[in-house]
Amino acid sequence: MGEPSDKRPKIDVDECTGCGLCVDVCEQECIDLVDDVAKTVKPEACTGCGDCVEECPVEAVIME
Ligand code: SF4
Ligand code: SF4
Repeated sequence: MGEPSDKRPKIDVDECTGCGLCVDVCEQECIDLVDDVAKTVKPEACTGCGDCVEECPVEAVIME
């Protein structure tokens, strides 16, 4: 698991393929697929670890 950070993931819906890898990797269950696109459904639980960013094969997750 990555280091906690103040940054939070933002998903580029135009790039997301809906593969679900970021959903699976997030230990806090912050991300889910909504209409086949990743969405941060529980942003308050996010630790900013960045694991979802590293997991995404198309770089659709950006920390900001
Ligand atoms: S940064 Fe970490 S805790 Fe936050 S959504 Fe991504 S994997 Fe989950
Ligand atoms: S890992 Fe990337 S492409 Fe796959 S669902 Fe998540 S944001 Fe979309």
